[in-house]
Amino acid sequence: MSQAYDIVIVGAGIVGAACAAECARGGLKTLVLDRGPIGGGTTAAGMGHIVVMDDSEAQFALTHHSRQLWIELRPQLPDDVEYDSCGTLWVAADDEEMAEVQRKQKFYTERGVRVEVLDALGVKKAEPNLRADMAGGLRVVDDAVLYPPCAARFLLEQAKRHGAELRTGVAVRELLSEGGVLLADGSRISSGRSVSATGPWSPALTPGLPVRKRKGHLVITDRHPGFVHHQIVELGYLKSAHSLGKDSVAFNIQPRKTGQMLIGSSRQFDAEDSAVDPAILDRMLQRAIEYLPGLGKLSAIRTWTGHRAATPDKLPIIGPSVMSDRIWLATGHEGLGITTSLGTGRLLADLLLGRPTEIPAAPFAPVRFRNGGSHHE
Ligand SMILES: Cc1cc2nc3c(=O)[nH]c(=O)nc-3n(C[C@H](O)[C@H](O)[C@H](O)COP(=O)(O)OP(=O)(O)OC[C@H]3O[C@@H](n4cnc5c(N)ncnc54)[C@H](O)[C@@H]3O)c2cc1C
Repeated sequence: MSQAYDIVIVGAGIVGAACAAECARGGLKTLVLDRGPIGGGTTAAGMGHIVVMDDSEAQFALTHHSRQLWIELRPQLPDDVEYDSCGTLWVAADDEEMAEVQRKQKFYTERGVRVEVLDALGVKKAEPNLRADMAGGLRVVDDAVLYPPCAARFLLEQAKRHGAELRTGVAVRELLSEGGVLLADGSRISSGRSVSATGPWSPALTPGLPVRKRKGHLVITDRHPGFVHHQIVELGYLKSAHSLGKDSVAFNIQPRKTGQMLIGSSRQFDAEDSAVDPAILDRMLQRAIEYLPGLGKLSAIRTWTGHRAATPDKLPIIGPSVMSDRIWLATGHEGLGITTSLGTGRLLADLLLGRPTEIPAAPFAPVRFRNGGSHHE
Protein backbone atom coordinates (compact mmCIF):
# COMPACT_ATOMS: atom_id res chain seq x y z
CA MET A 1 0.00 0.00 0.00
CA SER A 2 1.36 3.43 -0.83
CA GLN A 3 1.94 5.71 2.16
CA ALA A 4 0.86 9.34 2.31
CA TYR A 5 4.23 10.30 3.85
CA ASP A 6 7.65 8.75 4.32
CA ILE A 7 7.86 10.24 7.81
CA VAL A 8 5.39 11.70 10.29
CA ILE A 9 7.16 13.60 13.06
CA VAL A 10 5.12 14.15 16.21
CA GLY A 11 6.27 17.31 18.01
CA ALA A 12 7.12 20.75 16.63
CA GLY A 13 9.59 21.63 19.37
CA ILE A 14 13.14 22.36 18.39
CA VAL A 15 14.03 18.65 18.16
CA GLY A 16 11.08 17.79 15.89
CA ALA A 17 11.83 20.89 13.83
CA ALA A 18 15.49 19.94 13.38
CA CYS A 19 14.52 16.36 12.46
CA ALA A 20 12.00 17.69 9.93
CA ALA A 21 14.57 20.00 8.31
CA GLU A 22 17.05 17.14 7.88
CA CYS A 23 14.50 14.56 6.73
CA ALA A 24 12.96 16.91 4.18
CA ARG A 25 16.38 17.97 2.93
CA GLY A 26 17.23 14.28 2.56
CA GLY A 27 14.28 13.88 0.18
CA LEU A 28 11.79 12.26 2.56
CA LYS A 29 8.14 13.30 2.27
CA THR A 30 7.70 14.72 5.74
CA LEU A 31 4.72 15.75 7.88
CA VAL A 32 5.10 17.43 11.29
CA LEU A 33 2.21 17.34 13.77
CA ASP A 34 1.85 19.16 17.08
CA ARG A 35 -1.13 19.50 19.36
CA GLY A 36 0.04 23.01 20.30
CA PRO A 37 1.91 25.82 18.54
CA ILE A 38 5.46 25.61 17.13
CA GLY A 39 8.01 25.44 19.95
CA GLY A 40 5.32 25.84 22.60
CA GLY A 41 6.53 22.97 24.84
CA THR A 42 9.88 22.80 26.62
CA THR A 43 11.41 24.73 23.74
CA ALA A 44 9.55 27.87 24.84
CA ALA A 45 10.63 27.32 28.45
CA GLY A 46 14.34 26.68 27.87
CA MET A 47 17.34 28.95 28.15
CA GLY A 48 18.87 28.63 24.69
CA HIS A 49 22.49 28.16 25.72
CA ILE A 50 24.45 26.48 22.90
CA VAL A 51 27.10 24.73 24.91
CA VAL A 52 29.71 22.02 24.55
CA MET A 53 29.58 19.61 27.49
CA ASP A 54 31.87 16.86 28.68
CA ASP A 55 30.00 14.57 31.08
CA SER A 56 30.82 11.67 28.74
CA GLU A 57 32.48 11.16 25.36
CA ALA A 58 29.07 10.60 23.78
CA GLN A 59 27.68 13.80 25.28
CA PHE A 60 30.75 15.69 24.10
CA ALA A 61 30.43 14.25 20.59
CA LEU A 62 26.77 15.26 20.26
CA THR A 63 27.10 18.72 21.82
CA HIS A 64 30.29 19.57 19.92
CA HIS A 65 28.95 18.33 16.59
CA SER A 66 25.69 20.19 17.18
CA ARG A 67 27.42 23.42 18.11
CA GLN A 68 29.40 23.15 14.88
CA LEU A 69 26.15 22.78 12.94
CA TRP A 70 24.76 25.92 14.66
CA ILE A 71 27.92 27.82 13.71
CA GLU A 72 27.49 26.70 10.08
CA LEU A 73 23.82 27.72 10.11
CA ARG A 74 24.47 31.08 11.69
CA PRO A 75 24.73 33.15 8.48
CA GLN A 76 21.21 32.01 7.52
CA LEU A 77 19.56 32.63 10.90
CA PRO A 78 17.10 35.53 10.95
CA ASP A 79 17.55 38.30 13.52
CA ASP A 80 14.69 37.06 15.69
CA VAL A 81 16.73 33.94 16.53
CA GLU A 82 19.02 36.35 18.42
CA TYR A 83 22.11 34.20 17.97
CA ASP A 84 24.87 35.70 20.09
CA SER A 85 28.34 34.15 20.26
CA CYS A 86 28.93 35.46 23.77
CA GLY A 87 30.81 32.33 24.90
CA THR A 88 30.46 30.50 28.19
CA LEU A 89 32.36 31.50 31.30
CA TRP A 90 32.58 28.64 33.80
CA VAL A 91 33.51 30.28 37.11
CA ALA A 92 35.53 28.57 39.82
CA ALA A 93 34.83 29.68 43.39
CA ASP A 94 37.70 27.78 45.03
CA ASP A 95 40.77 25.63 44.38
CA GLU A 96 38.73 22.46 43.96
CA GLU A 97 36.73 24.11 41.19
CA MET A 98 39.95 25.51 39.74
CA ALA A 99 41.19 21.91 39.43
CA GLU A 100 38.03 21.27 37.41
CA VAL A 101 38.94 24.24 35.19
CA GLN A 102 42.30 22.57 34.48
CA ARG A 103 40.67 19.22 33.78
CA LYS A 104 38.16 20.76 31.40
CA GLN A 105 40.84 22.79 29.69
CA LYS A 106 42.85 19.63 28.98
CA PHE A 107 39.77 17.70 27.82
CA TYR A 108 38.60 20.44 25.48
CA THR A 109 42.01 21.40 24.12
CA GLU A 110 42.78 17.76 23.27
CA ARG A 111 39.56 17.70 21.26
CA GLY A 112 40.07 20.97 19.41
CA VAL A 113 37.64 23.16 21.39
CA ARG A 114 38.85 26.74 21.87
CA VAL A 115 39.09 27.56 25.58
CA GLU A 116 40.96 30.08 27.73
CA VAL A 117 41.86 29.65 31.41
CA LEU A 118 41.34 32.89 33.36
CA ASP A 119 42.90 33.68 36.71
CA ALA A 120 41.14 35.76 39.35
CA LEU A 121 42.11 39.01 37.64
CA GLY A 122 41.06 37.69 34.24
CA VAL A 123 37.62 36.82 35.58
CA LYS A 124 37.31 40.26 37.16
CA LYS A 125 38.12 41.90 33.84
CA ALA A 126 35.79 39.66 31.87
CA GLU A 127 32.85 40.07 34.27
CA PRO A 128 33.30 43.05 36.63
CA ASN A 129 29.95 42.43 38.34
CA LEU A 130 30.98 39.02 39.69
CA ARG A 131 31.89 39.00 43.39
CA ALA A 132 35.54 39.78 44.02
CA ASP A 133 36.87 36.48 45.37
CA MET A 134 36.53 34.16 42.37
CA ALA A 135 39.49 31.78 41.99
CA GLY A 136 39.34 31.85 38.20
CA GLY A 137 37.41 30.43 35.31
CA LEU A 138 37.31 28.85 31.88
CA ARG A 139 36.04 30.70 28.84
CA VAL A 140 34.61 28.48 26.09
CA VAL A 141 34.96 30.90 23.23
CA ASP A 142 32.58 29.53 20.59
CA ASP A 143 29.59 28.73 22.81
CA ALA A 144 26.56 30.92 22.14
CA VAL A 145 22.98 31.72 23.09
CA LEU A 146 19.85 31.98 20.98
CA TYR A 147 16.08 32.37 21.31
CA PRO A 148 14.68 28.83 21.00
CA PRO A 149 11.07 29.29 19.75
CA CYS A 150 12.23 31.40 16.79
CA ALA A 151 15.00 28.89 16.06
CA ALA A 152 12.36 26.12 15.94
CA ARG A 153 10.21 28.21 13.60
CA PHE A 154 13.21 28.85 11.33
CA LEU A 155 14.03 25.12 11.15
CA LEU A 156 10.43 24.31 10.24
CA GLU A 157 10.52 26.93 7.51
CA GLN A 158 13.63 25.24 6.15
CA ALA A 159 11.77 21.93 6.25
CA LYS A 160 8.82 23.45 4.39
CA ARG A 161 11.14 24.80 1.70
CA HIS A 162 12.09 21.18 1.07
CA GLY A 163 8.45 20.15 0.81
CA ALA A 164 7.58 19.27 4.42
CA GLU A 165 4.07 19.94 5.74
CA LEU A 166 3.19 21.19 9.21
CA ARG A 167 -0.11 20.83 11.04
CA THR A 168 -0.56 22.38 14.46
CA GLY A 169 -3.52 21.81 16.75
CA VAL A 170 -3.41 18.07 15.97
CA ALA A 171 -3.00 15.66 18.90
CA VAL A 172 -1.62 12.17 18.30
CA ARG A 173 -3.02 9.31 20.36
CA GLU A 174 -0.86 6.43 19.15
CA LEU A 175 2.17 5.62 17.04
CA LEU A 176 1.20 2.63 14.90
CA SER A 177 3.53 -0.35 14.69
CA GLU A 178 2.58 -0.84 11.04
CA GLY A 179 3.60 2.79 10.31
CA GLY A 180 1.74 6.07 10.69
CA VAL A 181 -0.19 7.58 13.54
CA LEU A 182 -3.65 7.47 15.08
CA LEU A 183 -4.95 10.94 15.88
CA ALA A 184 -6.98 11.90 18.93
CA ASP A 185 -10.03 12.41 16.67
CA GLY A 186 -9.80 8.74 15.63
CA SER A 187 -8.46 9.34 12.11
CA ARG A 188 -5.21 7.83 10.82
CA ILE A 189 -2.33 9.16 8.80
CA SER A 190 -0.25 6.55 7.02
CA SER A 191 3.51 6.84 6.72
CA GLY A 192 6.54 4.62 6.27
CA ARG A 193 7.76 5.61 9.71
CA SER A 194 6.79 7.87 12.58
CA VAL A 195 9.15 9.80 14.86
CA SER A 196 8.21 10.79 18.38
CA ALA A 197 9.85 14.12 19.18
CA THR A 198 7.51 14.76 22.07
CA GLY A 199 10.09 15.62 24.74
CA PRO A 200 8.86 15.17 28.31
CA TRP A 201 5.54 13.76 27.05
CA SER A 202 7.18 10.93 25.10
CA PRO A 203 6.30 8.12 27.57
CA ALA A 204 2.61 8.75 26.82
CA LEU A 205 3.18 7.60 23.22
CA THR A 206 5.86 5.02 24.04
CA PRO A 207 4.88 3.34 27.31
CA GLY A 208 7.86 2.15 29.35
CA LEU A 209 10.28 4.67 27.86
CA PRO A 210 12.58 5.72 30.73
CA VAL A 211 12.04 9.47 30.33
CA ARG A 212 11.21 11.45 33.46
CA LYS A 213 10.12 15.05 33.78
CA ARG A 214 12.71 17.23 35.46
CA LYS A 215 11.31 20.60 36.39
CA GLY A 216 13.28 23.83 36.02
CA HIS A 217 12.62 27.45 37.00
CA LEU A 218 13.79 30.54 35.15
CA VAL A 219 13.59 34.27 35.88
CA ILE A 220 14.03 37.11 33.40
CA THR A 221 15.05 40.62 34.42
CA ASP A 222 14.26 44.01 33.03
CA ARG A 223 16.73 45.50 30.51
CA HIS A 224 20.17 46.18 31.95
CA PRO A 225 22.52 46.00 28.94
CA GLY A 226 26.12 45.10 29.74
CA PHE A 227 25.52 43.76 33.24
CA VAL A 228 27.05 40.43 32.15
CA HIS A 229 28.81 39.58 28.90
CA HIS A 230 28.96 35.77 28.82
CA GLN A 231 26.65 32.98 29.73
CA ILE A 232 28.13 32.51 33.21
CA VAL A 233 27.79 29.15 34.93
CA GLU A 234 29.17 28.09 38.27
CA LEU A 235 31.40 25.02 38.20
CA GLY A 236 29.54 23.75 41.22
CA TYR A 237 26.81 23.19 38.60
CA LEU A 238 28.66 20.07 37.51
CA LYS A 239 28.60 18.68 41.03
CA SER A 240 24.94 19.48 41.69
CA ALA A 241 22.80 20.08 38.62
CA HIS A 242 24.04 17.33 36.37
CA SER A 243 23.85 14.62 38.95
CA LEU A 244 20.60 12.70 39.00
CA GLY A 245 20.07 13.24 42.71
CA LYS A 246 17.74 15.47 44.69
CA ASP A 247 16.44 18.98 44.00
CA SER A 248 19.26 21.30 43.11
CA VAL A 249 19.87 24.91 42.19
CA ALA A 250 22.93 26.35 40.50
CA PHE A 251 24.00 29.78 39.34
CA ASN A 252 23.56 30.17 35.61
CA ILE A 253 22.92 33.53 33.93
CA GLN A 254 22.51 34.51 30.32
CA PRO A 255 22.72 37.93 28.65
CA ARG A 256 19.94 38.37 26.07
CA LYS A 257 20.30 40.62 23.05
CA THR A 258 17.44 42.70 24.48
CA GLY A 259 19.68 43.64 27.44
CA GLN A 260 17.64 41.38 29.71
CA MET A 261 19.18 38.63 31.78
CA LEU A 262 17.81 35.15 32.02
CA ILE A 263 18.59 33.56 35.38
CA GLY A 264 18.56 29.82 36.05
CA SER A 265 18.40 27.22 37.11
CA SER A 266 16.81 24.56 39.24
CA ARG A 267 16.31 20.83 38.79
CA GLN A 268 13.57 18.81 40.44
CA PHE A 269 12.21 15.33 39.84
CA ASP A 270 8.71 14.36 41.00
CA ALA A 271 7.36 17.87 40.47
CA GLU A 272 5.05 17.41 37.51
CA ASP A 273 3.00 20.59 37.95
CA SER A 274 4.11 23.80 36.29
CA ALA A 275 3.53 26.07 39.29
CA VAL A 276 6.38 28.31 40.40
CA ASP A 277 7.72 27.00 43.72
CA PRO A 278 8.63 30.08 45.83
CA ALA A 279 11.11 28.16 48.00
CA ILE A 280 13.08 26.85 45.00
CA LEU A 281 12.90 30.22 43.30
CA ASP A 282 14.25 31.91 46.40
CA ARG A 283 17.16 29.42 46.66
CA MET A 284 17.94 29.94 42.98
CA LEU A 285 17.97 33.74 43.22
CA GLN A 286 19.99 33.72 46.43
CA ARG A 287 22.57 31.55 44.69
CA ALA A 288 22.72 33.99 41.77
CA ILE A 289 23.08 36.98 44.11
CA GLU A 290 25.97 35.20 45.90
CA TYR A 291 27.83 35.33 42.59
CA LEU A 292 26.53 38.68 41.30
CA PRO A 293 25.75 40.83 44.35
CA GLY A 294 24.44 43.73 42.22
CA LEU A 295 21.73 41.47 40.80
CA GLY A 296 19.66 42.01 43.92
CA LYS A 297 19.06 45.62 42.87
CA LEU A 298 17.71 44.73 39.41
CA SER A 299 14.06 44.00 38.76
CA ALA A 300 12.78 40.61 37.72
CA ILE A 301 9.82 40.85 35.38
CA ARG A 302 8.73 37.26 34.80
CA THR A 303 9.23 33.78 36.22
CA TRP A 304 8.26 30.45 34.67
CA THR A 305 8.95 26.75 34.72
CA GLY A 306 9.49 23.98 32.19
CA HIS A 307 10.09 20.24 32.24
CA ARG A 308 13.21 18.68 30.81
CA ALA A 309 12.97 15.13 29.44
CA ALA A 310 15.55 13.28 31.56
CA THR A 311 16.97 9.82 30.81
CA PRO A 312 18.83 7.55 33.25
CA ASP A 313 22.20 7.93 31.49
CA LYS A 314 21.82 11.63 30.66
CA LEU A 315 21.91 10.97 26.91
CA PRO A 316 19.03 11.47 24.49
CA ILE A 317 17.22 8.58 22.82
CA ILE A 318 17.61 8.71 19.03
CA GLY A 319 16.79 5.95 16.54
CA PRO A 320 14.36 3.06 15.96
CA SER A 321 12.33 2.02 19.00
CA VAL A 322 12.39 -1.49 20.38
CA MET A 323 8.63 -1.76 19.73
CA SER A 324 8.80 -1.51 15.94
CA ASP A 325 11.31 -0.37 13.36
CA ARG A 326 8.55 1.84 12.00
CA ILE A 327 8.41 3.84 15.25
CA TRP A 328 11.45 6.06 15.81
CA LEU A 329 12.39 8.24 18.75
CA ALA A 330 14.11 11.60 19.16
CA THR A 331 13.58 12.49 22.78
CA GLY A 332 15.19 12.63 26.23
CA HIS A 333 17.35 15.71 25.62
CA GLU A 334 17.15 16.93 29.26
CA GLY A 335 18.79 20.34 29.61
CA LEU A 336 20.67 20.27 26.30
CA GLY A 337 18.01 19.89 23.63
CA ILE A 338 18.38 23.37 22.17
CA THR A 339 22.08 22.71 21.63
CA THR A 340 21.71 19.11 20.49
CA SER A 341 18.64 19.53 18.25
CA LEU A 342 20.76 19.97 15.12
CA GLY A 343 23.00 16.98 15.81
CA THR A 344 19.91 14.92 16.61
CA GLY A 345 18.22 15.86 13.34
CA ARG A 346 21.34 15.02 11.34
CA LEU A 347 21.87 11.69 13.13
CA LEU A 348 18.23 10.66 12.75
CA ALA A 349 18.18 11.49 9.04
CA ASP A 350 21.50 9.69 8.46
CA LEU A 351 20.11 6.57 10.15
CA LEU A 352 16.79 6.74 8.30
CA LEU A 353 18.47 7.22 4.94
CA GLY A 354 21.19 4.63 5.54
CA ARG A 355 23.96 7.22 5.29
CA PRO A 356 27.13 7.00 7.40
CA THR A 357 26.65 8.91 10.65
CA GLU A 358 28.95 11.79 11.56
CA ILE A 359 29.17 10.73 15.22
CA PRO A 360 28.71 7.22 16.68
CA ALA A 361 25.00 6.41 16.94
CA ALA A 362 25.16 3.52 19.42
CA PRO A 363 25.29 5.59 22.66
CA PHE A 364 21.93 7.14 21.73
CA ALA A 365 20.18 4.01 20.44
CA PRO A 366 16.82 3.26 22.09
CA VAL A 367 17.83 -0.41 22.31
CA ARG A 368 20.09 0.42 25.27
CA PHE A 369 16.91 0.60 27.35
CA ARG A 370 15.46 -2.65 26.05
CA ASN A 371 14.96 -3.88 29.60
CA GLY A 372 13.62 -0.56 30.84
CA GLY A 373 16.19 1.86 32.19
CA SER A 374 16.60 1.01 35.81
CA HIS A 375 19.92 -0.84 35.46
CA HIS A 376 21.53 2.41 34.30
CA GLU A 377 20.57 4.41 37.37
C1 LIG B 1 14.52 25.58 32.58
C2 LIG B 1 15.14 24.97 31.36
C3 LIG B 1 16.32 25.49 30.83
C4 LIG B 1 16.90 24.92 29.70
N1 LIG B 1 18.03 25.48 29.19
C5 LIG B 1 18.60 24.93 28.08
C6 LIG B 1 19.78 25.50 27.52
O1 LIG B 1 20.25 26.54 27.98
N2 LIG B 1 20.34 24.90 26.44
C7 LIG B 1 19.82 23.76 25.90
O2 LIG B 1 20.41 23.24 24.94
N3 LIG B 1 18.68 23.21 26.38
C8 LIG B 1 18.07 23.78 27.46
N4 LIG B 1 16.94 23.22 27.98
C9 LIG B 1 16.43 21.99 27.39
C10 LIG B 1 15.63 22.25 26.14
O3 LIG B 1 14.71 23.30 26.36
C11 LIG B 1 14.91 20.96 25.74
O4 LIG B 1 15.82 19.88 25.73
C12 LIG B 1 14.31 21.11 24.34
O5 LIG B 1 13.47 22.24 24.26
C13 LIG B 1 13.55 19.85 23.98
O6 LIG B 1 12.89 20.08 22.76
P1 LIG B 1 11.88 19.00 22.21
O7 LIG B 1 11.53 19.43 20.84
O8 LIG B 1 12.44 17.63 22.43
O9 LIG B 1 10.64 19.07 23.21
P2 LIG B 1 9.46 20.13 23.31
O10 LIG B 1 9.89 21.51 23.00
O11 LIG B 1 8.80 19.89 24.62
O12 LIG B 1 8.49 19.70 22.14
C14 LIG B 1 7.66 18.56 22.22
C15 LIG B 1 6.40 18.89 21.43
O13 LIG B 1 5.63 17.72 21.34
C16 LIG B 1 4.27 18.09 21.37
N5 LIG B 1 3.50 16.91 21.74
C17 LIG B 1 3.68 16.14 22.85
N6 LIG B 1 2.82 15.10 22.85
C18 LIG B 1 2.08 15.24 21.71
C19 LIG B 1 1.01 14.46 21.14
N7 LIG B 1 0.54 13.36 21.74
N8 LIG B 1 0.47 14.88 19.96
C20 LIG B 1 0.93 16.01 19.34
N9 LIG B 1 1.95 16.76 19.85
C21 LIG B 1 2.50 16.38 21.00
C22 LIG B 1 4.23 19.21 22.39
O14 LIG B 1 3.09 20.03 22.19
C23 LIG B 1 5.54 19.94 22.13
O15 LIG B 1 5.40 21.06 21.26
C24 LIG B 1 16.31 23.78 29.10
C25 LIG B 1 15.11 23.28 29.60
C26 LIG B 1 14.52 23.87 30.71
C27 LIG B 1 13.23 23.32 31.23
